[in-house]
Amino acid sequence: MTEQQRTALVTGAGRGIGAEIARRLASDGFNIAAIDLDKAGLDALTSELTAAGHRAIGIVADISDEAAVEAAVARTADEVGPPVVVVNNAGIIRDNLLFKMAVSDWDLVMNVHLRGSFLVARAAQKHMVEAKWGRIINLSSTSALGNRGQANYSAAKAGLQGFTKTLSLELGPFGVTANAIAPGFIETEMTASTAARMGVSFEDFTAKAAAAIPVRRTGKPADIANAVSFFASENAGFVSGQVLYVAGGPKA
Ligand code: NAP
Repeated sequence: MTEQQRTALVTGAGRGIGAEIARRLASDGFNIAAIDLDKAGLDALTSELTAAGHRAIGIVADISDEAAVEAAVARTADEVGPPVVVVNNAGIIRDNLLFKMAVSDWDLVMNVHLRGSFLVARAAQKHMVEAKWGRIINLSSTSALGNRGQANYSAAKAGLQGFTKTLSLELGPFGVTANAIAPGFIETEMTASTAARMGVSFEDFTAKAAAAIPVRRTGKPADIANAVSFFASENAGFVSGQVLYVAGGPKA
């Protein structure tokens, strides 16, 4: 099987980092199944990709819903080919200090990041094992190291690192690698919403963040897509169970 015929499934691809990952993997030669809650974002992405000559479908699904994930993976296999690359990118934040954090905000963050990544990886692994080749790439975060106001998110992102290492042990014998990428500050609607919540302009927010980052800039979605492209490639076949911090320094 050539890389041209392989299919990559990317969650949270309706915008931001996920959309850029989908663009990059399409230009690397993968067919794309893009999953998101937001149909408009998926429609814009798939129109762009198909206009550029790529094979791509958008599937509206909540990745924390078991039946929806099973159906999305089955539809991917039927319409664009078995998903042998999975990028667990969909994510949300519900920040608050511990003493003010609602149980519903804890559960929501766990369900999207951890339950969602588990469900997608579990549904797709059978296609990878069958193909004797696969790549699972999970989006962690520098917040996994601890971040004030993110008890839920940092726990989920640290959990994804353990999840990744375990998948690399279980699936390695079948030609499947699993790696995690831990982004630092990336300019997307997620970081824009944090700035808005804190009552500062996005420009001031990014400038302040950049000053604290060793390379003196904030990240762009393409910085993460470049790392995903490597982990998804043939050349990364001996790299598994790793966490790559893409943060302009050892930690943002
Ligand atoms: P974003 O702009 O908020 O995009 C996230 C996408 O995920 C949205 O399109 C969202 O759809 C979708 N999504 C949320 N819940 C979902 C669900 N249950 N099922 C399906 N799709 C769902 O975020 P981003 O900045 O691109 O972040 C992408 C990933 O990188 C996340 O895992 C995030 O935690 C991680 N990350 C980001 C940064 C950063 O600085 N931006 C840093 C470290 C890690 P809706 O809009 O419809 O909800």
